[in-house]
Amino acid sequence: MNKTGKILVIGACGQIGSELTQALREQYGNDQVIAGDRLSAESNTGPGRPYVQLDVLDKDHLSRLVKEEGVTQIYHLAAVLSATGEKNPQLAWQINMQGLLNVLDIGVEGRLEKVFWPSSIAVFGPDSPKKDCPQQTVTEPTTVYGISKCAGEYWCNYYHQKYGLDVRSLRFPGLISYLAAPGGGTTDYAVDIFHQAVEHAEYTCYLEADTPLPMMYMNDAIRATLELMDAHPDQLTVRTSYNLAGLSFTPAEIAEAIKKRIPEFRISYAPDFRQQIAESWPGSIDDRTARQDWGWKPRFDLETMVHEMLKGMKVTV
Ligand code: NAD
Repeated sequence: MNKTGKILVIGACGQIGSELTQALREQYGNDQVIAGDRLSAESNTGPGRPYVQLDVLDKDHLSRLVKEEGVTQIYHLAAVLSATGEKNPQLAWQINMQGLLNVLDIGVEGRLEKVFWPSSIAVFGPDSPKKDCPQQTVTEPTTVYGISKCAGEYWCNYYHQKYGLDVRSLRFPGLISYLAAPGGGTTDYAVDIFHQAVEHAEYTCYLEADTPLPMMYMNDAIRATLELMDAHPDQLTVRTSYNLAGLSFTPAEIAEAIKKRIPEFRISYAPDFRQQIAESWPGSIDDRTARQDWGWKPRFDLETMVHEMLKGMKVTV
């Protein structure tokens, strides 16, 4: 049980936030974890209470909240994701960049114990290695989302080096879960496909059949976050963001795995602008630094992930 202070989760109504808030409450106690999001409390069906409506761009409010509530850790998840960001680059930059800078400043001013902020495989670009993309390599992202994550990683490192802020980060791959809907990323198809398979036994995929992407089942992502945040600071050699790998598959491969359990399922392909984004990213990630530094090991492969997804969606498998 945490005796030091409260935890604030910003972006708590999102795909990750709704599950991470729950996991943190199980670990630290319900009242110790405040869920925050720009959505109103009435529209919030996700993370439950305690809940506060907030905008990460309103630094004064955030700063007051941290002081008044005695917050000592922030998990900052609010962002505009890759596909939505391409439709409104200025907004994506503002929320992703200014939001992070506000949190980092408050982290220093409020002498927070720890801050968590997720980066993404979107930091990589067309010239990054496609297979087993290493921790340190060419990045050169081509989406505004990727640019904001790349810059954000360097800001985290800067605040750690310059002000001693204990900020920790993971480069999440596409995350797969059934509780909350995904928020406008290029990897969302790997969640939508399950809903369409269960409800209509068919799915039209916006990526081509043979486009491999790094993915992860949500349980692994939540566990990775908790393990990274529990690690002793001396274990951590990366203060930009850790590569993190779970599984990698193509749309054709996940469709095949679903077909084994729903034989009538059919997939067709109608690639759109997200194909180009997906092609700019690696197909698989080398996460050996995370494994070496703080013992990371994923538990879900394609078969177990598909099994758990369909079981979670209450389909007999
Ligand atoms: P999401 O879009 O599902 O949730 C984001 C939440 O932030 C939403 O509930 C939204 O209302 C809230 N929000 C947006 N702007 C806000 C603001 N100005 N103030 C307060 N709240 C605001 O996103 P997610 O999938 O849960 O992702 C969370 C984080 O993880 C993001 O930083 C994202 O870049 C990163 N990430 C996610 C994935 C993935 O596959 N889901 C992969 C890599 C990285």
